[in-house]
Amino acid sequence: MVESGRVLTDYHVHLRPDTLDATPDRYFTPANADNYRTVATERGIAELGVSEHIYRFSDALRIWDNPMWREYARDDVDDYCAYVREQTDLKLGIEADFVPGREDRIATFLEAREWDYVVGSIHFVGDAALDDEEYDIWGTGQSADKVWSTYFEWLGELARTGMYDILAHPDLVKHWGGRRPSPEGDLRRFYARAIDGIAESGIAIEVSTAGLRKPVGELYPSAAFLEMCLDAGCPVALSSDAHTPEQLGFGYDEALAYLADLGVTELATFDHRERRLEPIGARA
Ligand SMILES: [Zn+2]
Ligand SMILES: [Zn+2]
Repeated sequence: MVESGRVLTDYHVHLRPDTLDATPDRYFTPANADNYRTVATERGIAELGVSEHIYRFSDALRIWDNPMWREYARDDVDDYCAYVREQTDLKLGIEADFVPGREDRIATFLEAREWDYVVGSIHFVGDAALDDEEYDIWGTGQSADKVWSTYFEWLGELARTGMYDILAHPDLVKHWGGRRPSPEGDLRRFYARAIDGIAESGIAIEVSTAGLRKPVGELYPSAAFLEMCLDAGCPVALSSDAHTPEQLGFGYDEALAYLADLGVTELATFDHRERRLEPIGARA
């Protein structure tokens, strides 16, 4: 029997920047993985995995062929899996966008490979993006209430599919902070749209420090949203959404204080899609 230790995790991690010149021959190397492992160890993060964007892989075009994906979908997903399994000691994950109406195709893609975990995210609401200026949703004439309502409804649908282990950056819709419109008043009326699906699924809720690096300058998700998820019985998954080794564990002091304030004492860990809860460790 394996004894439970105290752990810090970083699972929602990318091996490279989100640029087209970041090709597998440059980044899917044993040396790059070693750099990630070394920095993680220095920072007290023992549970380390990677989760490349699904849309970097050519097979993703079978799921959805929007213009942005068509531009980025170049790599072979099975080469990525083989690299992580055979040339690194990292856990194997993927960040898979939820595209409503394409659930069967997403399932086919995911079921064909043996992941340690699948991170589910929503970056696009319809054809427009929440966090990408080139495809910006905030110029399409939709009200902030409409965008937020749809986004949180879809988060609930994502969870309900059961295809994902971790709900990524769960209020990404706030990405731009004051630089874009946002709804007035108590935001829990939007969060509530996601909660039934989240509660039914028991999906792990990601606390992501990426928001601290983004215009909003806050952790994802807001405390009010996380409290609703905790009340629904969901565990927490902690990640940085790093795109370089230097970003591993970014902002974890703030995240750990936030979790302690909310009474969270355990983190979800994953192995071949089996979840365990482990006591939260300390930063090195
Ligand atoms: Zn993401
Ligand atoms: Zn990511």
